[in-house]
Amino acid sequence: MRLDTLLKRAAGRLEQAGSPSPRLDAEVLLCHVLGVERSWLYTWGDRHAESFSWARFEALVAARAEGQPVAYLVGEREFWGLRLATTPATLIPRPDTETLVAAALEKATSGSGRLLDLGTGTGAIALAFAIERPGWEVLGVDREPAAVALATDNAARHGIANARFRVGDWFNELVEERFDLIVSNPPYIADDDPHLGQGDVRFEPRSALVAGEAGLADLHALVRKAASYLAPSGWLLLEHGLTQGEDVRRALHGRGYREVATLEDLGGRERVSLGHAPLR
Ligand code: GLN
Repeated sequence: MRLDTLLKRAAGRLEQAGSPSPRLDAEVLLCHVLGVERSWLYTWGDRHAESFSWARFEALVAARAEGQPVAYLVGEREFWGLRLATTPATLIPRPDTETLVAAALEKATSGSGRLLDLGTGTGAIALAFAIERPGWEVLGVDREPAAVALATDNAARHGIANARFRVGDWFNELVEERFDLIVSNPPYIADDDPHLGQGDVRFEPRSALVAGEAGLADLHALVRKAASYLAPSGWLLLEHGLTQGEDVRRALHGRGYREVATLEDLGGRERVSLGHAPLR
């Protein structure tokens, strides 16, 4: 069978199974099995698929048809142009989160400084920032040792030497440290949100998704605690859900942050709120 026919069939099956991106899924899975880039498929799609592992491709398509995320099946996801190893121990990096990276870069105007990324997961935010600001020292913290190991591997994979990763529960392991930027994409979904029963999120760690107080508990805790860890001219930048901007701004104002604002993601939804360190 020709590869393009094979792809068409797989995509049809995934579409029936309810995937929101059946063709892309099929291409990514096939490329994974063949060990090629997607651009290769466009040139060589008329080749016949004789000598490759059908069984492996079929098994991946079947797993995807059952809903498993493509990023976990192939073990990676691209974020900010970086291919990052991704496992079920962490959230899958999302394009929305590039808004947070862009905002942090905008605030990082000097050639050197220190950035802290809390709940770093794959290390996506920390690594994207570190590669753009080689003069900065980047620290990523996660409660899960498996995430810290993964983020460390991802740094090595891309030869990023200015990012380190450490196990810690938010700020708990950080003694007497100050940062110019503190960023986080914390859990912010309410535990009764129907979104949790749909798509890839069903397979992601709940601890990375769900927070108390209708999703606001960790955001509030970060706003409260970050003030003690920011340099005097530092900024706190937090990703949140599209209806949480007002709450987060109120929390930032309440804790004395200045120049509080909210930024929209590529889809025009309120996604990142930020504030300048409170005066001491
Ligand atoms: N934005 C993600 C989602 O809606 C959630 C990420 C998070 O909770 N930090 O699926």
